[in-house]
Amino acid sequence: MKIVHAASELYPYMKTGGLADAVAAMAGALADNGHEVSVFLPGYRAVLEHKDAAGAVRKLRLKIEMGDQFLSGDIRVFSPRKNLEVYLICREEFFDRRAPYGNGERDFEDNSDRFVFFCKAVVETLRLADLQADVVHSHDWQAALLPLLLRESERRHRVTLALKTVFTIHNIAYQGLFPATTFARTNLPDELFHIDGLEYYSQVNYMKGGILFADRVTTVSPRYAREIQTPEFGCGLDGVAQTRADDIVGLLNGVDTAIWNPAVDTLLPARYSRAEMKGKEICRAELLKRVGMAANFTGPIFGIVARFADQKGIHLVLANRDFLLVENCRWVVLGSGDKRLEDEMRALAAEAPDKVVLVAKLDEAMSHLIEAGSDFFVMPSLFEPCGLNQMYSQVYGTVPIVSRVGGLADTVTDADEFPGTGTGLMCEPNAGSLGDALERALVLYADKRRYSAVQQRGMARDFSWKVAAAGYENLYREAL
Ligand code: ADP
Repeated sequence: MKIVHAASELYPYMKTGGLADAVAAMAGALADNGHEVSVFLPGYRAVLEHKDAAGAVRKLRLKIEMGDQFLSGDIRVFSPRKNLEVYLICREEFFDRRAPYGNGERDFEDNSDRFVFFCKAVVETLRLADLQADVVHSHDWQAALLPLLLRESERRHRVTLALKTVFTIHNIAYQGLFPATTFARTNLPDELFHIDGLEYYSQVNYMKGGILFADRVTTVSPRYAREIQTPEFGCGLDGVAQTRADDIVGLLNGVDTAIWNPAVDTLLPARYSRAEMKGKEICRAELLKRVGMAANFTGPIFGIVARFADQKGIHLVLANRDFLLVENCRWVVLGSGDKRLEDEMRALAAEAPDKVVLVAKLDEAMSHLIEAGSDFFVMPSLFEPCGLNQMYSQVYGTVPIVSRVGGLADTVTDADEFPGTGTGLMCEPNAGSLGDALERALVLYADKRRYSAVQQRGMARDFSWKVAAAGYENLYREAL
């Protein structure tokens, strides 16, 4: 099949979260299975500076209609592996920036324009380069207008650009909600600014467009597919999701085992596997050393790697400060984002520097070292579309402590509830329940045989993309 993906992030070129990992692994797995895959990505500065893009060839110059203006753009193409081409949508004014969505404090003011331009440029490239896609698969709000813009262009130009469209919701909490005035920039017929179209309480909602107008809609875990149809998790789009109930499926993300695998991970000081765990001890000692803690500590190390956003339940960890300060544990926290959460975590770390360390930045190598060197990985998300770190931690023999939501509930089994099959510990997304789980972690850690059995079962699980890629292939075939 000829499969076109469009997303605002793609590992290793631009990443703020799991979206980048998921799109890269999905596209890679499909390419490995012999499909012809293209991924459209904004030409951010970091991408253009990446060595893979050095040989990118300019393929097209575009003029994109945006309201009553025409804005120019460039398409550059490179191929990082067999059967896979990356199409960069370049326009300096929009994408030649360090960060993709905002400056840390607030979102860029021209985000509505930037991502309408992105989607329209994908459509124009499909049309002018005559790519003849079987499936156009767009991801999250930034690419959510693509199915609609594509059908509109087909109607206008009387051509077929894609046989089927698929839209994947990686996180329904981010919807691309903009003032009504921005609708004109889409050049879509006025009747689409309507309750059955892109309008959402007098604003324009891109995510809603993806859900309503794609031929198929997917979420990144089965449980999240059900959750988004409820008021508790639908972030206001539960009613819209319900209208597509028959066309929404949840396909669990996988783990890219070329990158996240302790047996081959070159970002670690030592490698290890289920059969040979000595390397994990070395990683543990290195982690303690790296954050300035005594390497001979024998109690449990709790690791966290997360965007600091309300979603991730960092405040639930902070609410258990007594546990963090009193118990004989170490906490290594890698994360940044919400300033209030960062400040509170920093204050806690300042209070007990021997017990808690915060590394407040994006650090790929450190994220691998935490996954490998910790004994427990803590992820008490309030909601979690799929979540990758709880899978990574199982692969790395680090017992996850997660809340019972979304993809976390689909990928972790509680070891107290299911002693024969458990791979982690689960709690409800509140501070008290997390506190109980942390206490249970101490009990588990004290019982070395049981801890090791839980660890081994997690490592034996197959989270590889083979399964996930087959799910998408089936979905595409069935849609076609
Ligand atoms: P989300 O996409 O909601 O952020 P996921 O668990 O799906 O959550 O994916 C998060 C990804 O981002 C993981 O690969 C994780 O390792 C990575 N990540 C998050 N914060 C950091 C950080 N500070 N440094 C390096 N990687 C990070």
